[in-house]
Amino acid sequence: MYIALFGPPGAGKGTQAGAISEAYGIPHISTGDLFRENIKNQTKLGQLAQSYMNEGELVPDEVTIDMLKDRLSHDDCLNGYLLDGVPRTVIQANLLAHPEDGVTIDVVLNLAIPDEKLIERLSGRVEGQSGAIYHKVFNPAPAWDLPYKPQRDDDTPEAAANRVKVYNEQTAPLIEYYEERGLLKTVNGDQSIEEVQAEIKKTLDEHFGID
Ligand code: AMP
Repeated sequence: MYIALFGPPGAGKGTQAGAISEAYGIPHISTGDLFRENIKNQTKLGQLAQSYMNEGELVPDEVTIDMLKDRLSHDDCLNGYLLDGVPRTVIQANLLAHPEDGVTIDVVLNLAIPDEKLIERLSGRVEGQSGAIYHKVFNPAPAWDLPYKPQRDDDTPEAAANRVKVYNEQTAPLIEYYEERGLLKTVNGDQSIEEVQAEIKKTLDEHFGID
């Protein structure tokens, strides 16, 4: 099962990814998380990525895909993976379309959500002590995971607005790209977390022929 979770920032990719990865026993691989890990460990890659991330800009394609391919070469990816937040450009999608390198995508799950809901969702995003992501209003943390940590640098209103703009300009064209290749499945992301989760499960079970 080689799945890519696709959608604008704030669509709920990270929130849904944990449940999908658990349900199908495949690793959840988020390029955003890989960059944040590098920033935390103060690697060279982390330093480079941070300058782009703080502005809500994309990290260069080659850097991103080299990091991802390295992660996909680990043994836990042999039977599949769930990509979250990648590919984000047509160049990245082309770099990832190489089954001979063990890199492939069977299905792209598009979490669709109206533009005006995105900023509202992004601006309420908060992180609990455990590192889990919540929303102040729509999905507050349980008491054991409080208090919230300081806000992510790229969740300020300015950076969030730029991330939506970057998505529309550079990432949204991938909808047509994957539609043309017959890989795109669209799920309504504008529902409760549980409803989105159930629709994703149904879509993937149907796609992979699971009863
Ligand atoms: P995310 O956690 O997926 O929202 O990603 C946070 C930030 O990491 C993005 O705004 C980008 O700066 C960077 N990033 C994550 N994934 C990619 C990617 N596939 N290509 C380029 N930049 C990325």
